[in-house]
Amino acid sequence: MARNTIARIDPDAVAHNLGLVRQWAPHSRIMAVVKADAYGHRLDLCLPALENADMLAVATIDEARAIRRLGNRQAVLLLEGVLHASDLAVVEALGLELTLHHPEQVAMLENLGHAPTPRLWLKVESGMHRLGVEPEQVPALHARLLALPGAEQVNLVSHFASAESVDEASVRRQLRRFDAATRGLSGERCLANSGAILNHPDSHRDWVRAGIVLYGISPLAGRSGPELGLKPVMTLEAEIMAINRVPAGESVGYGARFTADRELRVGVVGVGYGDGYPRSMVDGTPVLVHGRRCPLVGRVSMDMLTVDLSACPEAAIGTRAVLWGKDLPIEEIAAAAGTIPYELSCRITRRVRYRESHAAGPAGGRILREFRLVR
Ligand SMILES: *Cc1c(COP(=O)(O)O)cnc(C)c1O
Repeated sequence: MARNTIARIDPDAVAHNLGLVRQWAPHSRIMAVVKADAYGHRLDLCLPALENADMLAVATIDEARAIRRLGNRQAVLLLEGVLHASDLAVVEALGLELTLHHPEQVAMLENLGHAPTPRLWLKVESGMHRLGVEPEQVPALHARLLALPGAEQVNLVSHFASAESVDEASVRRQLRRFDAATRGLSGERCLANSGAILNHPDSHRDWVRAGIVLYGISPLAGRSGPELGLKPVMTLEAEIMAINRVPAGESVGYGARFTADRELRVGVVGVGYGDGYPRSMVDGTPVLVHGRRCPLVGRVSMDMLTVDLSACPEAAIGTRAVLWGKDLPIEEIAAAAGTIPYELSCRITRRVRYRESHAAGPAGGRILREFRLVR
């Protein structure tokens, strides 16, 4: 019997979340961001549920290639464009759309002699100071792109630094700068990420870029996905592999971080930082057993972690423990590890098995298909 450390992925939840984004941004088209293997949820499991998205977006050419290898022909935007001119042939072969965020990238297309794709996306610096051309360069670069043989449409893009926070002022300032830099230019506008989709309807414009919300995760501090109506897509679970009696005064795990103040029944769960469950997790972090929250006790090790099963006397060897997902918000677990849920879902390692799992499937069906690791 294989180790049952499993990330269950619910594609119906992805489809539900996409529908919710449509309600939140009813006048915009939706770019579904599926970079980093669908934020660690796996492209092969999530793409079928995103067929109604208006296009897809990824960070790298390899990610775009993975989409095509799955037989998917949806429009795909490379959010960062290409770094090397030699990549343009691949862009054309795969039928990808390009972001241009630097004058060098525009010159690359001019050297090529044509637009590799009829629709191009010019990214404007509006305040984040990561990627984007300076506002005063925008009209000239826009014109140069439109002048390329084969170019039909040059859209205008920017990205917010703090759309998920309550710092209204920074989003307003970025919007103002973007509008000023792009005034009078043709093309569709695209700014909002998940945080802005939720917080700033006036930023929705022609397109929104939805990432984290598609996976049922909230970008807003202090609010979980389900509180926003989202359905969590991933449930990470593992099995209890041993249950030990730990006398009062004895400690548990590496470094003896935790010491029992009374006799405890401690379960050893088969998941650790070698699977992507952070070692930085603190004592008391909840692990769900039989639907009840049991506190983590002691350091997380590479392959295992330990939980106090006092709240769960019926737990036995082989009982399933849920680390995050349905009924245990990943947002809360990320906070306990001092990080954001984006990082938790992206850092699941290749040792974890993925299963497609429909919460609302026929006869409450659980596992329909299991995939081999393809990475
Ligand atoms: C990742 C990314 C997004 C999606 O952000 P979310 O917060 O996950 O919605 C949008 N735009 C760009 C440029 C990105 O890199």
